[in-house]
Amino acid sequence: MVNWNGDIAKLSLPTPFAVGDVNVYIVKGDALTLIDTGVKTVQSKEALNAGLGELGLQLSDIEQIILTHHHPDHAGALDFFDKKVPVYGHKNNQRWLTLSDEFLDTHNSFFLDFAGKLGVAEELKHRLTHDKEEIQFLSKRNMQAHLAEGDELPGLPGWRVIETPGHAQSHVSFYRESDGLMIAGDHLLARISPNPLMEPPLIVGGVRQRPLLQYNASLQKLLDFPISKVYSGHGGEIDGEKVSDLIRSRFERQHNRAMQVKSMLQEKPLTGFEVCQRLFPKVYRQEVDLTLSETVGQLDYLEDLGEIELEMQSGVILYSSATTVSKGIIY
Ligand SMILES: [Zn+2]
Repeated sequence: MVNWNGDIAKLSLPTPFAVGDVNVYIVKGDALTLIDTGVKTVQSKEALNAGLGELGLQLSDIEQIILTHHHPDHAGALDFFDKKVPVYGHKNNQRWLTLSDEFLDTHNSFFLDFAGKLGVAEELKHRLTHDKEEIQFLSKRNMQAHLAEGDELPGLPGWRVIETPGHAQSHVSFYRESDGLMIAGDHLLARISPNPLMEPPLIVGGVRQRPLLQYNASLQKLLDFPISKVYSGHGGEIDGEKVSDLIRSRFERQHNRAMQVKSMLQEKPLTGFEVCQRLFPKVYRQEVDLTLSETVGQLDYLEDLGEIELEMQSGVILYSSATTVSKGIIY
């Protein structure tokens, strides 16, 4: 059942991913806007058409598309829409929407290099890279214009952009001051913490981002806004009164998980991959990309707090607890 809630309607669309359905939003304004598209599958298109139908609309009524981030469940189905329909989003979406050979090469060499430094088993390294052929559920598209912090959304007066990088380097959320509504994509979800996914540096050859630290800063940022309700990319809405408690409990949980990693490293120094194997013994093989992102997030967090130290040994980073570092001879 799809209904208008004021000028917003939520459509839940199926995805082939473990996360389940994704929420996209129709927002009425000067332009009828779709926020996120769902994934590019026949099933999703059917559900989108059916949902729009319940509102008395069809695909061709959508006048513009605004993206929270570039992931395939959010931006994958741009191909369903006429090329004349303008698409807006953060500038960091574009490399994923262009998906040039050059970007893929850069992406793959970054991950192979970083996997080496993390000590990832040779047979799993290729799981961190992408072949053009294997990439599905994405659409190629040029954005009409880029959205940045504080911008008012085109066609939606009163809605402003909050940059919320972490889960994705392209991630933005939208906030309307007049009624405190927030459309937060995957930045804040009622039931799950989004994975701080690793991405290649934004500048080729540059320093990699530390997505969990970015994510925490972006979560902290939400505490400054009086929020009445959060519409999320997956699952139900979050009541504004619960937002700050939810954020604080997420910080606490995150800190506790990191401290578990620190206690592992107090026993002995480990590579990133060894930490990953210990944290996710059952799934690290099948989901090496996701589990490694989580692991690197914890290690970045601990490094930032000064709780651990890093040492390069034959091209591999060895992580150790800062309090038990052996006071070896300094040459
Ligand atoms: Zn996502």
